[in-house]
Amino acid sequence: MNMSDSTCSRMAQWLRPMVFCRDQVSRYCFAVFATMAATFVRNQMDPVLHDRVPFGFYFLSVILTAWLGGTGPAVTALILGTLAAAHFVILPENSLIVDEPADKFALAIYFVVGAVAIALFHKLTTERRRFERQLRVNQELSTKLSEADRKKDEFMALLAHELRNPLAPIRSALDLLDRGDIGETQLTATRRTIRRQLDQLIRIVDDLLDVSRFLRGQMRIAPERIDLQSVVELALETVKPLLQDQEHKFHFLAPHAPVWVQGDRLRLTQVVSNLLSNAIKYTPRGGRIQVTLEEEGPQTRLQVIDNGIGIPIESQPGIFELFAQANPSHTREHGGLGLGLAIVKQITALHDGTIDVHSDGPGRGSRFTLVLPAALAANEEPGPASAATENRATERPENTVRGLRVMIVDDNADAAETLAALLTFDDCVTIVANDGPSALQRFEDFLPDVVLLDLGLPGMDGYEVARRMRARRTVKPPVIIAISGWGGEAIKRKTIAAGMDHHLVKPVDISELLSLMLSMPGVENANRPAGDASPIPAASEP
Ligand code: ADP
Repeated sequence: MNMSDSTCSRMAQWLRPMVFCRDQVSRYCFAVFATMAATFVRNQMDPVLHDRVPFGFYFLSVILTAWLGGTGPAVTALILGTLAAAHFVILPENSLIVDEPADKFALAIYFVVGAVAIALFHKLTTERRRFERQLRVNQELSTKLSEADRKKDEFMALLAHELRNPLAPIRSALDLLDRGDIGETQLTATRRTIRRQLDQLIRIVDDLLDVSRFLRGQMRIAPERIDLQSVVELALETVKPLLQDQEHKFHFLAPHAPVWVQGDRLRLTQVVSNLLSNAIKYTPRGGRIQVTLEEEGPQTRLQVIDNGIGIPIESQPGIFELFAQANPSHTREHGGLGLGLAIVKQITALHDGTIDVHSDGPGRGSRFTLVLPAALAANEEPGPASAATENRATERPENTVRGLRVMIVDDNADAAETLAALLTFDDCVTIVANDGPSALQRFEDFLPDVVLLDLGLPGMDGYEVARRMRARRTVKPPVIIAISGWGGEAIKRKTIAAGMDHHLVKPVDISELLSLMLSMPGVENANRPAGDASPIPAASEP
């Protein structure tokens, strides 16, 4: 609680009416009692005051009642005081007549001052209530903030731990490679370790970006008509190594016919692979994992069932919240940030679907049920995306990137050099520039077919570089692919507005990049035998 809060609190305490004045009846009783007390004291003072100062003590009774009893009782005390003064003090005694101008004047003053005092106390009471309400709100906010702060600290510690986990084996693997005298088997194993751990790092970063996207309401899907069976198969591909590693038995039960939904293939694959990798992770070695797929009228139902550690009943309602971990000790052992299911829930909601969990408790396995609306007209041709992919494959079986002239612009020299080296393996002719001006300088000499352009360049950003490249007249304009750490629709729109053709998020998967380069209109015609390529080496800018 801060300074002003504690001052408010003390003030509110001081202003709070006494306990015996809490209910209405006792407040009005207090008004009567205060008037009687004032009358009694005034009578005692009669020998000294005679008929002077008739209302003096009634001021006190009104003010006391306003303070301790509130507005209504104070008005009562004001009226009772008038009657008591007229009856007991003002002459003639025992009558309510006030004749004397001086007494009338005193009565008027008593009324005005009494009314002002009551109004002031009324205002004070209203303010006190407002203070108290505000105080409660502040206290709730402060509790929530401390809780959020604690969760953030916990999350940062967990994140650091989760990032360090893959970094340690990567460092050891690189130390091993530095020794140079390791055999072929060891070399393959070391390379696999690096790739596995790198994939894990990429997954963590992707999850963080997804969470940030949905917290900002910027997660979008690109729905198309897809077969859920193919989604399960794709998801299975990504978790296969884990599945085999853990020696789990896996069953996939699905109808013979395709199960069509209107969905985003990549995002739904992410959902299923998340559920599958959790099932694998939270099931002791040699367990049983089953995926069932059914179509029930207007709905499709996909279930991922395991016979693993299960989830306590009380943890199940909150399991899809961010950072939720049903069994922290187990999660610590297996790693995890508590983001996966929150992302799953968001993606499901974007598809107008639902996701539920059921477990009979610890040690009794878990069942996650994903329900999505079935796509209409389920007997139509397969979706356009898969058809397009197949067509491409059959139309241009021979197409390769051999001889393609690729300019890589990235201020991270290591990133640019390694990408250039990889493309050189595929017989591309590459050139590297580490900033915008040198990229533009070499652009016309090199005449690239493809420019891979980082967006965050020092001095002149990638958008400007792309605009200037587009402004130059070249016989054959290059395909410009933005490569950046930032994803999302807004960036995509900006890159297109700057004249770029495509956008990839770092770290770029080389096979994805190659197939993208092959699919770009204009690139296929650029292929030529490696011998025809001009001999510009894959050198970096000085
Ligand atoms: P995490 O990265 O911690 O796995 P998730 O959001 O994917 O994050 O899962 C949240 C929590 O739900 C996990 O920490 C785990 O306690 C619990 N959980 C998820 N799937 C399963 C499962 N198949 N069996 C048991 N517990 C699970």
